[in-house]
Amino acid sequence: MKMATVLRNDDYSREMDRLLRQKISGNDKFRFVEGKEEEPELVISIGGDGTLLEAVHEYGFGPQYVGIHTGHLGFYADWHPDELDEFVEALNQVQPLVVEYPCVECCITTVSGEHHAKWALNELVIRNASLSTLVTCVFINGEEFETFRGDGLIVSSPSGSTAYNKAVDGAIVHPSIEAIQLSEIASINNQAYRTINSSLVLPQHHVVELIVMNPEIMIGLDREQAVWKGVRSIVCHVGRQKVKFARYKKLPFWRRVRKSFITG
Ligand code: NAP
Repeated sequence: MKMATVLRNDDYSREMDRLLRQKISGNDKFRFVEGKEEEPELVISIGGDGTLLEAVHEYGFGPQYVGIHTGHLGFYADWHPDELDEFVEALNQVQPLVVEYPCVECCITTVSGEHHAKWALNELVIRNASLSTLVTCVFINGEEFETFRGDGLIVSSPSGSTAYNKAVDGAIVHPSIEAIQLSEIASINNQAYRTINSSLVLPQHHVVELIVMNPEIMIGLDREQAVWKGVRSIVCHVGRQKVKFARYKKLPFWRRVRKSFITG
């Protein structure tokens, strides 16, 4: 099996990578490769959830992913560094369960008519490029829904629902549910302006269109963020492709939620 690693840029993660390679060396079932062109079948992320996001954007939808968390327990990483021996044993012995997580897919259209296809495993975020209010008309399945005024909007995937989306009181969605969630960041709600002021969870076949009124906005896609000028609209829906995770041990989603947010 061809494997690659993606590391958080710290000494602890580099040391885990060194140990992992040492424990696997001499086992001709596995070969470490580097780079997408080498088509690894398994990508091991060593770091945090942010590292896993980086890995997924580097290697795309082809390989399966597994994570070793060198910080706190994450949503995408199953293995603790103390379990390195068990992990190597599992690689050797266990047929993993492959679970697939939906992404957010979107098309950004500019006023000059360019289309940019993008995707995110956690979320798409839009904010005004300056501190003034973002103004966006929200259409759902082609019908006008509301005009949003506020700091920003988040369109998250189920697995991204525990990230930025949760910080703005969005719902946590189990990753087996094929949906996207539209959440507000600090909407203005007064006698002049009104939004739904709740997160909306939309099923697989629904489409959210954001018509952007600001000349310049900030767009975030997972870890990547950039200022975009002249964006006319952003159309979002559940992605056609999913990210595949290799589960070599059981760690149910709700247990992860509890450990991450309640018990530690
Ligand atoms: P970061 O600002 O360095 O870290 C953001 C935190 O979000 C980290 O603790 C990260 O976990 C955690 N995280 C990432 N994906 C998660 C998920 N699916 N569920 C629960 N927690 C998650 O940024 P980063 O490491 O590059 O990660 C990018 C993500 O940061 C974005 O996708 C966005 O969701 C999140 N973010 C959150 C807020 C907020 O909560 N107010 C604001 C901006 C961005 P690890 O420590 O394990 O990497």
